[in-house]
Amino acid sequence: MPPINLNPGPAILPKSVLTKLSSSVINYNGSGLSLLEISHRSDAFIEIIDHVRLLTKKLLNLNDDYQVLCLQGGASLQFSQIPMNFLGTNDTACYCNNGIWGEKAIKAASLYGNVHLASSSKDKDHTYIPKELDIHDSAKYLHITTNNTVEGTQWHTTPPIRIPIIADMSSDILSMQRDFNQFALIYAGAQKNIGVAGATLVILNTKVLKQVPPSERLFPDLLHYTKQIEANSLLNTPPTFAIYACLLTLQWIEQQGGITAIESINEKKATMVYDALDNCNTFDCRVHKADRSKMNIVFYLKQESLMPSFLTFCKNNHIVGIKGHSTKGGCRISLYNALPIEDVEKLCNILHDFHKQQQ
Ligand code: PMP
Repeated sequence: MPPINLNPGPAILPKSVLTKLSSSVINYNGSGLSLLEISHRSDAFIEIIDHVRLLTKKLLNLNDDYQVLCLQGGASLQFSQIPMNFLGTNDTACYCNNGIWGEKAIKAASLYGNVHLASSSKDKDHTYIPKELDIHDSAKYLHITTNNTVEGTQWHTTPPIRIPIIADMSSDILSMQRDFNQFALIYAGAQKNIGVAGATLVILNTKVLKQVPPSERLFPDLLHYTKQIEANSLLNTPPTFAIYACLLTLQWIEQQGGITAIESINEKKATMVYDALDNCNTFDCRVHKADRSKMNIVFYLKQESLMPSFLTFCKNNHIVGIKGHSTKGGCRISLYNALPIEDVEKLCNILHDFHKQQQ
């Protein structure tokens, strides 16, 4: 029986993407060369990166003001790169603290300017998303994490704020519809819903960002958004293979019917799992219902001592990646786009069987 892959990231990829990726390692597009052997300045690669930019804009329905960059350093480097570019030493930016990734973004930004906490869910162990935001009068931008991968909460709507919104969408980009044109900057590491580790998508509204005067500080060209835009993300050698994986995954999403079609399957998948957990009192889902993530479902065993036998039960049933993040304990089910609904059905049966065993 093939494993049910619930890894939080790097995560499951569509089988057809893996097949195409592996053949590209031997012979890219009938060229007789491996994709790993061709120059990032070659026509073949420029075609790939241009296609990634176009398809990202098409799938997210972005207007012409947006530029798409394929960078390195993961989402974590964006925690620093954003304030480096937009936050002068005396400037202030607003941040929402809804979990460990938001906290890391705050820590990084505080090295460059002033951070004003717009909200925090720390009082309730990050089990909810506070909707009331305290926005500083002259803040340059508001930073949010749309999906808190570790805590299992998600912004289902975008806060109605008048200052530019910058969003870490690492774990829910391309999984649901949003009005992506409402964001000044969106970033995401590729290794969950876009492709494989090594590439980071940064999507910027150049018009909005012109209103956020760049900071005066000097820093390397590689980290300069404007210089990366001018160079089509090719200031140095980009992660060519990871960028190709992005292209194949974006094409797969398009073949599924785009984000609208993907979203309706994701809705079903998440409902099935939350129903299974809510209907079995062996499990304990602590996140407030209104803020539950549809990508990462975090839960505990009501009787903590059952955890080792639950994990063994999962392992014996070929489930991988269900153990929660080390800072949270418990369990986590990641339902990224590529996880087939049939696997989610099997998973729910397994959860149910474990529950029945305890009765
Ligand atoms: N933000 C979020 C929401 C994440 O889930 C992660 C990774 N799990 C990161 C940032 C960090 O990403 P990276 O490892 O690509 O730096």
